[in-house]
Amino acid sequence: YAKLRGKNRVERYQQRYDELLRRRGTLEAELRHAIDREQLRLVFQPVVALPSVRPVGAEALLRWTHPTLGAVRPDEFIPVAEESGLINRIGAWVLEQACIQLAEWLARGHDVWVSVNLSPKELHAADYAGQVADVLERHGVPPQRLVLEVTEHAVATDMEELISRLTELRGTGVRIALDDFGAGYSSLGQLRTLPVDILKIDHALVAEPESRTGMAAPLVDVVVNMGHRLGLEVLAEGIGTPAQRAVVEEAGCRLGQGSLFGWGVPAEHLEAQLQTLRQSPARPLPAPRSAP
Ligand code: C2E
Ligand code: MG
Ligand code: MG
Ligand code: MG
Repeated sequence: YAKLRGKNRVERYQQRYDELLRRRGTLEAELRHAIDREQLRLVFQPVVALPSVRPVGAEALLRWTHPTLGAVRPDEFIPVAEESGLINRIGAWVLEQACIQLAEWLARGHDVWVSVNLSPKELHAADYAGQVADVLERHGVPPQRLVLEVTEHAVATDMEELISRLTELRGTGVRIALDDFGAGYSSLGQLRTLPVDILKIDHALVAEPESRTGMAAPLVDVVVNMGHRLGLEVLAEGIGTPAQRAVVEEAGCRLGQGSLFGWGVPAEHLEAQLQTLRQSPARPLPAPRSAP
């Protein structure tokens, strides 16, 4: 009997694994056509100055809506894009769309910057800095209006190579943000040697004050202060409640992002959202029903 149960467990495990592989295969095959079939779009999440809540920029976040699979989350399809090599083409599309939108906002007199997430693979592609310079020029976007976000995962790779890539990118005049800081791998020591301009504190760190440990507020405080002492701008992401906002502000953090100020919205709705932010104090927003 025990043997049978063990066998069932192995079978169930095998089944689950097969399902995962199938899902992955489907996603990869479908993602291949996502651009041409116009299933991808960007949403923009406002970034605000603290404590004023004046909007200063927006992060471009990729959305994929498939006719039968529905909304697929970036946390699921970005890794597929990275492993299949599709990320370079998708990333180029994201950068282009973000710059088109940014150029439009600047033309309409909005004093904003836009940030775009980069996968390590894109960063290491041949002449990536040249591609960035080219897109900026074609759309007439001043480089300092664009922020490129690299994650801590990129930091886990060859440091010397990373530093030279980031230095090259910065040479175009764009600014670099280190995303998800505090979530994983990079150390304070590494941070000191990296040519970055903005430090984004991971939402997990920001969310902790609501947990019972009581440890996170001092952590946020340490990271903000360290960032400032290294001459970086510090941005806290995932601010979802007034209490989290208070912790971040008390630490002296001057940039924030999160559902308290607004989820990602299609470009045409961002202007209205910026207007609301300029007028009213922030209240928590309910999570949108589908992927924001
Ligand atoms: P990220 O760059 O750290 O983006 C922040 C994520 O936090 C977004 O999830 C955003 O919707 C979510 N978020 C914003 N405010 C709050 C909040 O108050 N509370 C909570 N709990 N979450 C909040 P999203 O859009 O699902 O993106 C997930 C990740 O996918 C991103 O993390 C980024 O690493 C990756 N990603 C998204 N778009 C792109 C892209 O165009 N290219 C690449 N390479 N990666 C992307
Ligand atoms: Mg990001
Ligand atoms: Mg992040
Ligand atoms: Mg992330």
